[in-house]
Amino acid sequence: MSDDHPPRDSPEWDNPDLCPFCGATLSDGGIGFIDHVSDAPECAERFEAWRAAIRDDIGGEWGG
Ligand SMILES: [Zn+2]
Repeated sequence: MSDDHPPRDSPEWDNPDLCPFCGATLSDGGIGFIDHVSDAPECAERFEAWRAAIRDDIGGEWGG
């Protein structure tokens, strides 16, 4: 495990004052995060991977 972002169901995602990937302070909640990932390709990549993991999860749970 080299990733240190919070688990998918962590309450930290509800109020992201910090980037969950690199720990950078965000300017204004969700908007700040979107702004941040556009500046930080590495975080954008990890965010995409995280979203893909959620999609896979939901697909697995609801596909049957
Ligand atoms: Zn970041």
